[in-house]
Amino acid sequence: MTETHYRACHLCEAICGLEIKVDDGKIISIKGDKKDPLSRGHICPKAVALQDLHEDPNRLRKPVKRVTRDDGSSDWQEISWDEALDTTAERLAEIYQRDGANAIGVYMGNPSVHNYGMMTHQNALFSHIRTDNRFSATSVDQLPHHLTCLWLFGHKLMLPIPDIDRTDYFLMLGANPLASNGSIWTVPDVRKRIKALKKRGGKLVVIDPRKTETAELASEHHFITPGTDAALLLAILNTLFTEDLVDTGHLSDFVSGLDAVAEAITDFTPEMAAEHCGIEADAIKGLARDLAKADAGICYGRMGVSTQEFGTLCQWLIQLINIATGNLDKPGGSMFTSPAFDSVAGGGKGGFGRHHSRVRKLPEFDRELPAAALAEEILTPGEGQIRAMFTGAGNPVLSTPNGRQLDSALETLEFMVSLDPYINETTRHADIILPPTSPLEHDHYDISFHLLAIRNTTRISDPVFEKPAGSLHDWEIFNELGIRFAGKLGKEAKALPAPDQLIAMGLAAGPYSEQQGSPHALTLEKLRENPSGIDLGPMQAQLPQRLFTGDKQIHCDSPEPLADLARLRASLADNDGKLKLIGRRHVRSNNSWMHNFHRLVKGKDRCTLMMHPHDMAAHNIEDQGWVNVRSRAGEVRLKAQSSTDIMPGVVSIPHGYGHSREGVRADIARRHAGVSCNDITDELWLDALSGNAAVNGVPVEVSAG
Ligand code: SF4
Repeated sequence: MTETHYRACHLCEAICGLEIKVDDGKIISIKGDKKDPLSRGHICPKAVALQDLHEDPNRLRKPVKRVTRDDGSSDWQEISWDEALDTTAERLAEIYQRDGANAIGVYMGNPSVHNYGMMTHQNALFSHIRTDNRFSATSVDQLPHHLTCLWLFGHKLMLPIPDIDRTDYFLMLGANPLASNGSIWTVPDVRKRIKALKKRGGKLVVIDPRKTETAELASEHHFITPGTDAALLLAILNTLFTEDLVDTGHLSDFVSGLDAVAEAITDFTPEMAAEHCGIEADAIKGLARDLAKADAGICYGRMGVSTQEFGTLCQWLIQLINIATGNLDKPGGSMFTSPAFDSVAGGGKGGFGRHHSRVRKLPEFDRELPAAALAEEILTPGEGQIRAMFTGAGNPVLSTPNGRQLDSALETLEFMVSLDPYINETTRHADIILPPTSPLEHDHYDISFHLLAIRNTTRISDPVFEKPAGSLHDWEIFNELGIRFAGKLGKEAKALPAPDQLIAMGLAAGPYSEQQGSPHALTLEKLRENPSGIDLGPMQAQLPQRLFTGDKQIHCDSPEPLADLARLRASLADNDGKLKLIGRRHVRSNNSWMHNFHRLVKGKDRCTLMMHPHDMAAHNIEDQGWVNVRSRAGEVRLKAQSSTDIMPGVVSIPHGYGHSREGVRADIARRHAGVSCNDITDELWLDALSGNAAVNGVPVEVSAG
């Protein structure tokens, strides 16, 4: 008999509603759920990968341990959960007792925020370890956003969301939502929303070194030299000041410090910025004027401006532009969500620089150190050296800068355990791998992405399949490890309740509960009765009440980014003339873990070096010819792809490839192995202000070969 299940796709930030039909235990179709109030039936080609992931023969179903064959090579052997959990707890406890908490390193990958059990239960283990050596994908991604929000709004998660459905003018930098479906911006069906914006007379302007899929659809596109976005944003802000276009409107009573910013940036004129960024001064002034005169406008930037040398400065300037034009917290501008499970009100605000990494003295953010420092913390002897690693749903060998250095570093560990369903480029170094149930075998609530969504909605997804006998959910693994690890130290630990029970408590404390007097009267039961989700309405203005700053004011003159202007001036004055490497995203890919599904990787090779024909001619490189790309950190060899969609002086390699490393168990991915762009990104090339990796704008040399 055919059953129909409704659930959220958790693969990317868009959290599209799905209708999954199952017959006799097999998935027979995956379609968009038209009743979902957020995604309205939209899905992208990746949705079907949920089936591929569930059925993938390479996905581990049981824990494995690494064993050494007689010839010295490694192999994997299935073991019982008892042995896997006990050995892990014992080895971690042994190293903890001998060398201290900091001898254990932790790295959590991006999928850990897409599986709610990983979020709700990781501290069931980590609260017993309390290591300073915690790392995650945040510092190769959105760390500059969190830091900016902490400085301006008093909370790392007060992230302004572009209200695209009600805007008139959208200035977008370094983002390609047509491929990503939104990032720090849950926006399913973005193509239709951009078309609707243009149809109602609005404008989308895209700034990007590549004419992306989004730029193709935009009203206007400008190429920009990688790493110079901060100069452009400063020139826009400067124009707002000098042409008397600043109007903070409804924000006026609780915004201060803009005068100090105006004074500090007088030298960043449109003419000065034009010399560096490649956009003419008149065009820059036009961007400022258009944004100022729009009834409702948005300035937004993502990966291209976040993961570069001046990522934090860029994100801070983006918010100052939204404030200076009165577009923050205004319908059609950049707004704050009101999620049913409110991790802003209910969670820690975050902090910065409270401790530093041992070797390079890089600052922590929210108790995590920059991922670019992980390898050196393993490799450098001395007190506090990492001797054991826990990785959760992460593949930092492919996703953090100078992956080869980390690859070698992981080899030197005394013990490594990975909570992961795959033997990938990182987990191949583990001694034990603990695979959780497949996503379709557990329930899910999107703690992270309702917080970032363009409309307030809520939904819990029940499992599609029963949990197989003898398997454990991710949260059960954390509970078990916490109890066993504490036990080895002679302490007692209690298991946390199941994640849905924590959601029930969060809903009761949230803004739509009966206790709070909301007519929605949300409970877990009510969510389960509405599997397509419940609409809670558009984003609402909510400042200054929702500010977390001590005095309920937004202080625009944050000292750290103001001081960082000196670093930008020095960088602009010191152009090395080298080609600049940027990444690129494809709608059929998502970081490193979507390449083992035939229907997502079939077709033309996508892991190519995209290069402008003028640069190819200057370097004697032919279209589809082999090239070597070198940086301070390393070298890769791949095929060149000629394209006028990329600006001269810039080359691009997509990230997440490089699956040919020995021992990786991903049969399809290995046939489409490609190279890892993070073999040539540089762990020393950072946004010095935050410690975020600068994987865009990396200086490289290219030659035929
Ligand atoms: S856009 Fe994202 S959430 Fe929607 S179907 Fe595709 S992968 Fe899933």
